[in-house]
Amino acid sequence: MQYLLLTQLGDPVLRAKNKKLSVSEIRSNKIQKLIADMFYTVRKVHGVGLAAPQVGKNIQLAIIDIQETPTRPNLKPYPKKVIINPRIIEPTGTSTSAQQKTATDWEGCLSFNTIRGTVTRPNSITVEYLDEHGTKHTETVSGFPARVFQHEIDHLRGFVFIDRMKDMRTLMTLEEFINRIV
Ligand code: ZN
Repeated sequence: MQYLLLTQLGDPVLRAKNKKLSVSEIRSNKIQKLIADMFYTVRKVHGVGLAAPQVGKNIQLAIIDIQETPTRPNLKPYPKKVIINPRIIEPTGTSTSAQQKTATDWEGCLSFNTIRGTVTRPNSITVEYLDEHGTKHTETVSGFPARVFQHEIDHLRGFVFIDRMKDMRTLMTLEEFINRIV
């Protein structure tokens, strides 16, 4: 398996449009190898998720691999996921904030790994996506996994977490985050 170079904030690939994959593309050797390499890479760098634009590919594919990391020592195990062509069904963009239960927590990103900040997001989402076999899933996810899904789906729309921050004063360097928060 191959370690993939991570694109960094400022690279236009993180802001570009991402192409949907067909089932035959998903099942191709090229995409299956990319998925395996992404899982290998995310473990090496202690991430919990990785989206294709972060390895230089403008396609709608991301992986989720939640396990304990040095800065998140108490994560509950969650099955590995490949999410392709995802669509958040609930909450919809038209739901009022009063109807949504939100949670605020710290986020970081492998595309600018020296920064942390707090992001408020819906606590629970229902998402539709294809897996690595091209099989369609509709799933309701809550808590930390819901946050990771939303962070990764944002990457597939050209957004990064700092675009979602309401209080920029919580931005901090990784060193301060480890000293003060972890
Ligand atoms: Zn990220």
